[in-house]
Amino acid sequence: MKELFLIKEGEIALKGLNRSNFEDRLIKNIKQKLKGIVNFTYSCVQSTITVEPIGNCDLDEVEKKIATVFGIATYSRVAVCEKDFNEIKKVSAQYLKYDLLKAKTFKVDAKRSDKKFPMKTPQICIDMGEFLLSSFSNLKVDLHNPDVIVRIEVRDTHAYVYAKKLPGACGIPVGSGGNGMLLISGGIDSPVAGWMMAKRGLKLQAIHFISPPYTSERALQKVEKLVSIMAKWCGCIPFHCVHFTNIQEEIKKNCPNDLFTVIMRRMMMRIAQMISLKQNETGYCNIQALVTGESLGQVASQTIGALVCTDDVCDMPILRPLIGMDKLEIIDISKKIDTFETSILPYEDCCTVFTPKHPKTKPQLKFIEQAESNLDIDSLIQKAICDTKFCLIKEQQV
Ligand code: ATP
Ligand code: MG
Repeated sequence: MKELFLIKEGEIALKGLNRSNFEDRLIKNIKQKLKGIVNFTYSCVQSTITVEPIGNCDLDEVEKKIATVFGIATYSRVAVCEKDFNEIKKVSAQYLKYDLLKAKTFKVDAKRSDKKFPMKTPQICIDMGEFLLSSFSNLKVDLHNPDVIVRIEVRDTHAYVYAKKLPGACGIPVGSGGNGMLLISGGIDSPVAGWMMAKRGLKLQAIHFISPPYTSERALQKVEKLVSIMAKWCGCIPFHCVHFTNIQEEIKKNCPNDLFTVIMRRMMMRIAQMISLKQNETGYCNIQALVTGESLGQVASQTIGALVCTDDVCDMPILRPLIGMDKLEIIDISKKIDTFETSILPYEDCCTVFTPKHPKTKPQLKFIEQAESNLDIDSLIQKAICDTKFCLIKEQQV
């Protein structure tokens, strides 16, 4: 029996004139995701994409991959049949046999987007219901809470039969929302923040600051692992690794201890923005926003006053998708996207190695600027950018 995937678009279906751009992007992302399994044919009619393998392949594997593509509301593995009701009945009984034998109750849910099909939807439901009742003596009809829903869709070229409609990753296709630079630490929050923005269509790059010898090689590997897990949803992620030791030591030496964190964060933002702008200048990529995992009030550097001081050094918008979320809500997402177990590995982050005991929770810009005048900011930044290492991280490569 021939099987394929029916994929229902999420929010894209609500788009107006540029909807086809979103659809093209979604199909491109699905193709990219399924690359290397076998070849597939793709078509898109009325907000439904069909993905059909050419030749044999592991459909469970395809199913898992489709589950991680943003822009999909639901997806189903379906049996294909000719648009003939006898054929549809036969295929339904065969294809859903095991589900139906295990069930006590069922209902039929039919859709007919081909209005030329001779039976109307209620008739399809009634006739199919009767047929299944006569074929499976264990079954009764339950319209409200059935064990199995027998779904029939009569579409343009074929009819499709299936029972399971699986929830997709939702959101909008990665790449349709421009490019952003995620500041990623080894913690729980920033991978979740990146995932949330990718879900809104942002194509991510990631930047990470290390401070050897205070931070270890294993701490860096942990972050690379997190990025590779995120790449499952985000596609491959360009990764910039910035040596930050010198800058942190200079801040420690020359600035008041209680302003250390906020000055350090301003340096991170400046560097992240400059690396982004450089790519925009060379035409490599057009990065329009920075992304962080900050959540209001979570730590001293995330009070509104501290965030204002951080923002002051950036012309680019800083997206903070976690700003109004509780830690437990963030943890729930990190478990769902599989970053949690890696995030809690106990390696140090450069943010924690020099943390002052009593950071200022209400830092004032004039004192920060005064303190920063003791630093040669331009040359510190230039040097850090020169030493930055770059690589592309793919899904589960690390
Ligand atoms: P996370 O769980 O993401 O580490 P956090 O609660 O530990 O966040 P902070 O350490 O204050 O918070 O960091 C706030 C944000 O700053 C992070 O979410 C991340 O976006 C960025 N950040 C922190 N450390 C680094 C780092 N070493 N490299 C790049 N970005 C970082
Ligand atoms: Mg952290």
